[in-house]
Amino acid sequence: MSDQVKLECVQGDITDQPDLDAVVNAANAELRTGGGVAGAIHRAAGPDLEEACRPLAPIKPGQAVVTSAFGLPNKKIIHCLGPVYNIDKPSDQLLADCYQNALRLADSEKLASLGFPAISTGAFGFPVHEAAEVAADAIHSVLSGLSHLRLVRMVLFSPGDKDVFQKALGISR
Ligand code: ADP
Repeated sequence: MSDQVKLECVQGDITDQPDLDAVVNAANAELRTGGGVAGAIHRAAGPDLEEACRPLAPIKPGQAVVTSAFGLPNKKIIHCLGPVYNIDKPSDQLLADCYQNALRLADSEKLASLGFPAISTGAFGFPVHEAAEVAADAIHSVLSGLSHLRLVRMVLFSPGDKDVFQKALGISR
């Protein structure tokens, strides 16, 4: 039931969310380390993560896959490949697919809490305002179908991005 799922936005680092069952990686298709979120997650998780990812790659824009979290303080990592803005089209739909597939996968893994970074808003060039609107619609549209998730947290690197996502999600704090 959607009213049993808490939505929140925090300013912070996706690799430092020890109270969450799982975090989402803004992955690349090969599920390798890189810049931004993927680099931070692979550095914190350690080399076992790259090993676990190898048989799952490559993934397509919008797709989500799950691994153990290894050195991260969570149980699982859900890896999503966001669209490159206006190159992988329709970009809005592919970004919505990321959020929805990640939420459904987390729920099927019986996870109670999941943290997202702002997928595709870094190297992949999505404007933050547009990404926040897409994320908010996508998250709201699947919540009622979930059984296990109780907390969804957006973790934004910059205070400005946090304000944008908070507004889009309709969170007043
Ligand atoms: P993408 O390739 O999907 O655009 P990036 O990793 O380049 O992904 O960036 C996605 C967003 O995550 C950007 O807004 C970036 O500022 C932010 N970001 C980068 N590192 C972190 C981190 N450690 N925790 C949370 N957000 C981060």
